[in-house]
Amino acid sequence: RILRLSKGNDFEEVKHIIAELPNTIEADTSDIKEGIEGCIGDTPLIKIKSLSEATGCEILAKAEFLNGAGNSPKDRVALSIIETAEEQGLLVPHSGDTIYEGTVGSTGISLAAICRARGYKAHICMPDDMAIEKSDLLLKLGAEVERVRPAPIVDQNQFVNLARTRAAEHTADPEKPGRGLFADQFETEANWRAHFTGTGPEIFHQTGGRLDAFVSGAGTGGTISGVSMFLKQVLPKVRIVLADPPGSGLFNRVKYGVMFDPKEREGTRRRHQVDTIVEGIGINRVTRNFEVGRELIDDAIRVTDDQAQAMARWLVENDGIFVGSSSAVNCVAATKLAKQLGPGHRIVTLLCDSGARHLSKFWAQTDPIGGSEEDLSLEDILNADKK
Ligand code: PMP
Repeated sequence: RILRLSKGNDFEEVKHIIAELPNTIEADTSDIKEGIEGCIGDTPLIKIKSLSEATGCEILAKAEFLNGAGNSPKDRVALSIIETAEEQGLLVPHSGDTIYEGTVGSTGISLAAICRARGYKAHICMPDDMAIEKSDLLLKLGAEVERVRPAPIVDQNQFVNLARTRAAEHTADPEKPGRGLFADQFETEANWRAHFTGTGPEIFHQTGGRLDAFVSGAGTGGTISGVSMFLKQVLPKVRIVLADPPGSGLFNRVKYGVMFDPKEREGTRRRHQVDTIVEGIGINRVTRNFEVGRELIDDAIRVTDDQAQAMARWLVENDGIFVGSSSAVNCVAATKLAKQLGPGHRIVTLLCDSGARHLSKFWAQTDPIGGSEEDLSLEDILNADKK
């Protein structure tokens, strides 16, 4: 007879197992992870109790901030990009090979951590208005960091363009060891595939295949496309809803097929011109990772900064969940959708990263808990459409 220790054993059972151990040891080492790469994926699905109670829907959130390398869904993407390049023979460990990427932070942090683990270097180009703790963390991970002024994509110094140029310069430079590889998260298939093979199937299994809707913001679009491409195949009726911050053209792309509101035409302000404190989601150009799944998106919901900030506070106040701006946007949109669908539905969204990565910006401008006289009501949050 084999006795196994499991998470469910109570105190008396554990004492009994200890007494029996010398006769019954079972060698099970399957829980040991192979380095930090082994800690990527299989993230928990958390029921957000406060939002579920308040709406009568089950609001579930995939805790992507618990991915164990760079602590965001970008761990899945960074690993997928690196493994794909290795399979193609484009990267050789400890040769000086360097990965270049344009990122608002999360992808860079994931790449930098995995590069360390695998013997590569990382060079990250990012806009200089992102929370400073992200570039601080990148430097501690040993990445080289270039912070540049936010600019439209036609500008050669725009952060993605700069990363592409730097990779080519590295490869062309005989003085530099190894080659430069541009990770290209906005365009590469390795991005949406990581969610098609990981995040999507995990959501399906964790819900027993019973969910009515999936809600997500989009930066590159890899998450919403990859998850939707999986879920729509196995659950054709599942509703896919984009959550979009101020200034992003994706809401219009889903609603009208173009990046600007046809009523406003070119007068629509662009993402880099809008002073939003939300980081990581919202964009004004067509990316392959968004377009590959765009037709599967059924609807889009706009979320203001005020709503995101109020929701971030609500989640700490009621659930002890401390998240960053894109997670808060996702939760506002999930709650709005719950109100639209009515009670009894199950909605899945994502918690992308921790509030700790947003202390100097998003959280610095968010009222502290206990800082206001009145308790927040969910109606107040949904009605905070001032910006
Ligand atoms: N949340 C955060 C914190 C991010 O950094 C990103 C990606 N930049 C996203 C959400 C959006 O994910 P995706 O790129 O897959 O659309």
